[in-house]
This record gives sequence, C-alpha cells and structure tokens, in this order.
Amino acid sequence: MTSPIYVQGAWFVGALLFIVGLKGMSSPASARQGIVWAGYGMLIAIVGTLFVPGLTNIALMLAALGIGGVAAWISGKNVKMTDMPQMVAIYNGMGGGAAAAIAAIEFARGTTHSAVATTLAALGALIGSVSFTGSCVAYAKLQGLLKKTYRLPAQNVINIVLVVSAVALGGAMIVMAPAKPELIYVFFAVALILGLIVTLPIGGADMPVVISLFNAFTGLAVGFEGYVLGNPALIIAGIVVGAAGTLLTQLMAKAMNRPISNILFTPMTAGGQGSEATEGTMKELSALDVAAMMRYASKVIIVPGYGMAVAHAQHKVWEMTTFLEEAGVEVKFAIHPVAGRMPGHMNVLLAEAGVPYDKIFDLEEINGEFAQADVALIIGANDVVNPSARTDKASPIYGMPILNADQAQNVIVIKRGKGTGYSGVENALFYNNNCRMLYGNAQPMAGEIIQHLKAMG
Ligand code: NDP
Repeated sequence: MTSPIYVQGAWFVGALLFIVGLKGMSSPASARQGIVWAGYGMLIAIVGTLFVPGLTNIALMLAALGIGGVAAWISGKNVKMTDMPQMVAIYNGMGGGAAAAIAAIEFARGTTHSAVATTLAALGALIGSVSFTGSCVAYAKLQGLLKKTYRLPAQNVINIVLVVSAVALGGAMIVMAPAKPELIYVFFAVALILGLIVTLPIGGADMPVVISLFNAFTGLAVGFEGYVLGNPALIIAGIVVGAAGTLLTQLMAKAMNRPISNILFTPMTAGGQGSEATEGTMKELSALDVAAMMRYASKVIIVPGYGMAVAHAQHKVWEMTTFLEEAGVEVKFAIHPVAGRMPGHMNVLLAEAGVPYDKIFDLEEINGEFAQADVALIIGANDVVNPSARTDKASPIYGMPILNADQAQNVIVIKRGKGTGYSGVENALFYNNNCRMLYGNAQPMAGEIIQHLKAMG
C-alpha cells in the first residue's frame, strides 16, 4: 500500500536533509552543523512514519523511541572522544540489527513481495545480521570487554562454509517464499554466527577499519530493506551510509597499507616486530630545553597522535603554539590519515581547541617540508612517524606511508615512557641522533613548556 502524500513528503524531506548533512560533514568547519541537519532529517522521517495509516503499535513505538532516545542522549553526552570508535560500532550494529529485524518480520509474516524485493530482503537480512554480531564483537573488543582474539583452526574454511550456507539458505527462502519458520530461524542463526566468527580473530589495531566496513554493510542492508518497505528515506539514508562507509574503508585500508582481504582473513597480530635493530639509547631532554629549541627556531612542525587525545592535551598544545607564533616562529600541524584511533581524530581535537584549519596539513601536503623544519615536535604519536615502515619488510607496518618527521633538524618526542604504538612495533626514530625524548603525560608537559616560553618572553 502506498503511503499518503504527507508521509512520503516527510520521508523525502528527511532524505534531503541526510544528504545536506553528509555534505556538511565533508569539512571540519561545517561538520557540527551537518550532523544537526541530518538529525532533523531523522526526526522528520520518524514523525512522518508515525502517520502511516493502519499502524497498530503506536504505544510500543513511542516507548521504543523514548528508551532509545534517552539512552542515545545520555551516552552521546558522556562518551569520551577516545571511546568514539566503540560507540560508532555499537550504534552501527544496532542499525544492521534493525535492518535484519525488518527482513525477519517480512519473511515471518509471509508478506508477498516482488522477486526483486524478496531477494533484497534476504540480502539485507544476511548483511544486517553479520553487521549486528560483528559490530557487537568490535564494541566488546574496543571497550576492553573482550581482551583476546579467538582464531579457530581452519578459520578461513569455516568462514567460507558459513558464507555458502547462509547464501544457500537465503536462496531457499527466496525460492520457497513464504518460507517455513524453521528455515528462517536457521538462516538467521547462520548469518548471526557468521558475523561473530569473522570478527573474533581480528585484533584491536584493525578494528576501526572493520567497523567502517560493517558501517557500509549496515547502510546497504538498510537501503535494501527501504526498497522492500517502499520507504525512500531508508533507501537514500542506506545508500549514503553504504557509499560513505565503503569509501572510508578503502581510504583507511590504503592509509594503513593493508588490503581489506588481508585485514579480514590474515589479521595483524599486535606485538609483531620487524627485523630492523633499534640500536643505541633514547636521549632525554627537559621541558626547558624543548621550550628553548622551539622559541629560537624559525619553523616547527607539530605531529599529534593518539597520546595527545588520551591526555586531552590539544588546548595546551594550541596555547603553546600561540606563544611560539608571537615569538615569530612559523608553526604547522601535520596530520597522518590514521593518527589516533578513528578517521579525522586529530582534526576534530585540534578544531575543538581552536586551531585554524589553514595551519593543519595532510601527509601529502606537509611531508616535503620536514627537511626545512628546525623542530618536529611529536606529541603522543608513534606508528605514524616510524621510519621502519619505509624500509623494513619484516615490519607489520611496512609500506604504510608515514610522516617524514625524522628528516627535521631536531625531533622531539613527548610520551610517557617506552610504550609502543597501536601496532606494538618498536620505533627506530626514537634512537636517532637527531631525536630527543621528553618523558611525561602530554598535557602537563605541554603546560611546562608554556611556562618556560612565558618566562622567555
Ligand atoms: P600510536 O598508537 O602509534 O602511539 C601512541 C603513543 O602515545 C604511544 O606510543 C604512547 O607511548 C603515547 N601515549 C599514550 N598515552 C599518552 C599520554 N597520556 N601522554 C603522552 N603520550 C602518550 O599512535 P599514532 O597516532 O601514532 O598511530 C595510530 C595507530 O592507530 C596506527 O598504528 C594506526 O594504524 C592505528 N589505527 C588508527 C586508526 C584511525 O582511524 N586513526 C584506525 C585503525 C588503527 P607511551 O605509552 O610511552 O606514553
């Protein structure tokens, strides 16, 4: 049954706002506004849906909206920036689960659809189920609830058997529609187990890429179920999320130099070491030395990483930058595409601290400038400046493009101790002759440097 014009209109406006919102999210300057527009789009689409004629469960829907809305509001307000990947994972999983649930209801009811719609419903059910359980595992791993990776013997064979079984069962459901309940149960059980089994062996370092992949899956599943329900808002939202998730997955995999097949089927094990020796000693210096080196430099390039996020040091880092600029030093920020723990992590933090966008440069833009910099100041970054990624074929991060911080005249690294980065690999840069370590939490260390800069006038 076609919905009335005012419902269709609400869905259409909702869909338009999703697109406007996504466009806004393409730049840090307009991202906040973009997410607000997309939120209004969702609100309008939901309110429109409540006016679909013949709905019998309005009270149940309102209760679900109330519970979901309050839970999302509280968790959204309280989430720490460093916990954002697991939040994205769990919400994304809920989206996949919702798409699969729509399909389950349509199959269980035995609603008659066209062959295309039935096929899309089954595909959406499969993809949505995998995304649901896979995203739950991703959440549990990133939240520290699941600390180990579980790899079954003949893991890839089991994966293939599960995929083939799920596709065959889905095919049977399409051919036999309306399918018997037993067939529907077995299909969903296999699809849900597939999501678990594929994700359990993947380590934390690869997890954000996997979350992005599941995000694309959820988008596709939602788009397919939108077609089944004849809901353009769901179709457009699903396609937009599916396309954005696919592009993001590709970009992240490229930035980490890890083909997606490699991430899914031969996961990286943290702690793997390369063969390059890390000879010599790490040389320490004081906050006063760091302040003096930067105060009398002409050009400083700051490389922020995950440690800056953990320490919430971005505001202090920006304050330090303003002191340096007042003293006539040229300061630029170099951002690696996978610095931190989610795409755009550093850009978001620096924007929050008020760093102007024209001081922030991507890897390709800034890499040629390190050789002219007097100081490269690395704050809580590690893997993204590890030179062994260029040369050490045995290193798990071999081939990942890195920031050329080692080419600066002087390299200063602020970190708490001798901890490795996410990949678990030692960093040869820290042993270089031009490199000095300032040990400590990034925020108080940046504060100490500011005090010395102030004293220097
Ligand atoms: P890393 O994880 O390589 O290194 C962070 C460093 O910060 C550590 O060596 C740690 O050393 C230091 N640190 C931690 N806490 C603090 C603190 N409070 N104060 C000062 N230093 C601190 O970070 P990078 O940003 O360089 O690299 C990101 C890594 O994450 C890459 O391996 C990337 O592939 C991976 N990744 C990123 C994704 C993304 O989308 N951004 C997605 C998937 C993976 P110490 O313990 O000694 O202080």
